[in-house]
Amino acid sequence: PPFDALGLSAPLLKAIEEIGYERPTPIQARAIPFVIRHRDVLGVAQTGTGKTASFTLPMLEILTGSRARARMPRSLILEPTRELALQVSENLNLYGKHLNLNHALLIGGESMMDQRAALNQGVDILIATPGRLLDLYDRGGLLLNQAGILVIDEADRMLDMGFIPDVQRITSLLPAHRQTLFFSATMAPEIRNLADQFLRNPEEITV
Ligand code: AMP
Repeated sequence: PPFDALGLSAPLLKAIEEIGYERPTPIQARAIPFVIRHRDVLGVAQTGTGKTASFTLPMLEILTGSRARARMPRSLILEPTRELALQVSENLNLYGKHLNLNHALLIGGESMMDQRAALNQGVDILIATPGRLLDLYDRGGLLLNQAGILVIDEADRMLDMGFIPDVQRITSLLPAHRQTLFFSATMAPEIRNLADQFLRNPEEITV
């Protein structure tokens, strides 16, 4: 299907056209309609498949259609490394160009004070590495109970890097009724167990 058959509205389609994407990649074509319908998704996909847009585009669509009730983050994207977090942030800048949504990064190597200042402006989407997020959370002032959409990206790398306990603690801070999108390049039994723990009746998409 073309991009305009996936349920994305005009401001996103315009941004996609300006970037020059001609058609959705397979993971985008399959994931975007489910995410827009608030379903959980288990995506087995490597980097390079267009995975990032498969969760950022429908997340922007959902958030632009619902009003912020608080200044606290309405969605959270967890990445294993600051480089990946920065890439997601660049993607959101591009795709969200014609929307009035904002995002903030909580990653190591940047000033905690600047990151807190960004949070205080009110944030629709928070992109974070697990350790830095908990570090800031434990200092107080950040609430995650409005974050009804969670993305766990590169779950296999999170596991390799020992971040799963942090991810488990973070999920305990989010609303119990939430939408979770879980991506991994591989689906080893350990990853499948994690997916079962974090997802509810997910649509499973392997590309
Ligand atoms: P990702 O797998 O998310 O890291 O994306 C890999 C690359 O594919 C990035 O440089 C994207 O800008 C690009 N890309 C994502 N979706 C599309 C698309 N539908 N058409 C062409 N390029 C795309």
